[in-house]
Amino acid sequence: MTGEGAREPGVPSVLVVEDEDHLAAGLKLNLELEGYAVELAGTARAAGELLLDAGRFDAIVLDVMLPDLDGFSLCARLRRAGNYTPVIMLTARASAEDRVRGLEAGADDYLVKPFDLNELLARVRSVLRRQAWNLRNGRPVRRGVTIGEGSVDFESHEVLVRGEAVKLTRLELDLLRFFVEHPGKVISRDTLLEEVWKLRNYSTARTVDNFISRLRRHFERDAQEPQHFLSVRGAGYKFVP
Ligand code: CA
Repeated sequence: MTGEGAREPGVPSVLVVEDEDHLAAGLKLNLELEGYAVELAGTARAAGELLLDAGRFDAIVLDVMLPDLDGFSLCARLRRAGNYTPVIMLTARASAEDRVRGLEAGADDYLVKPFDLNELLARVRSVLRRQAWNLRNGRPVRRGVTIGEGSVDFESHEVLVRGEAVKLTRLELDLLRFFVEHPGKVISRDTLLEEVWKLRNYSTARTVDNFISRLRRHFERDAQEPQHFLSVRGAGYKFVP
C-alpha cells in the first residue's frame, strides 16, 4: 500500500466511502475536478484498511449504508482509534435522530441523499478550510492531530502510528506539540532547547537532532526523505503539517 496513494504536497486528499458504483465514480470525478486527490472504498473494510494510515486523507465522505458495516460505526471506530480526519456523512435517511447519531459518532457534517453536488463540494471545501485553519493556529482538531503516518492526542497522550499505539516520552510529546503550534516556521535548535528542553542540563544541539530523528522514524513515511520534520540547512528545523 505504501507508494501507491503517496500524497502530493499541497493537494488535499479525499476518501469517498460509497458502495454505489455510479455515485462513487461521479463523486470521484467531481472532487478531482475541484483539484483533490480522490480514493474510493466500496466497503467499510476497504475504508478501514486505507485509514490505518491516519495521515493519508484530509477529508472523508462516508455513506451510512454500506454492505458490511454502517457508516456510524465506522466513524465511531475511527475516532476511538484517534483518527480525527473530518468526516462528512451521506445518507438516505433524513430523520433528526439519524443526524444526531451521525454527529455523535464523530462526524463533522451530514448530508441527506439525494444531495446537491454543489452543496457537497462546498461542504468538503468548508471542512478542509476549517482543518487547515486549525492546524495553522495550532489548535488540535478535536484534541487530536494527524501528523504524517500517525496521530497524536495531546490530552490523553495517545499516539497511534500506522494504527499501532506508540509510547512517546514527555519530551518527545513536548517537542511535537511545539512543532504543531508553530507550523511552517523555521525554528533554530537553540530556540527548541530554550522552549522545549528549557535548558535542561546536558542537552545540546545534538540532542535536538536525535529527537528529530526519532520523530521522523515514527511519523514519516520515509525517514530519509522527511515531508513533515524538515531540516533547514544552517538554520534549524521546520515542521510542515
Ligand atoms: Ca450505500
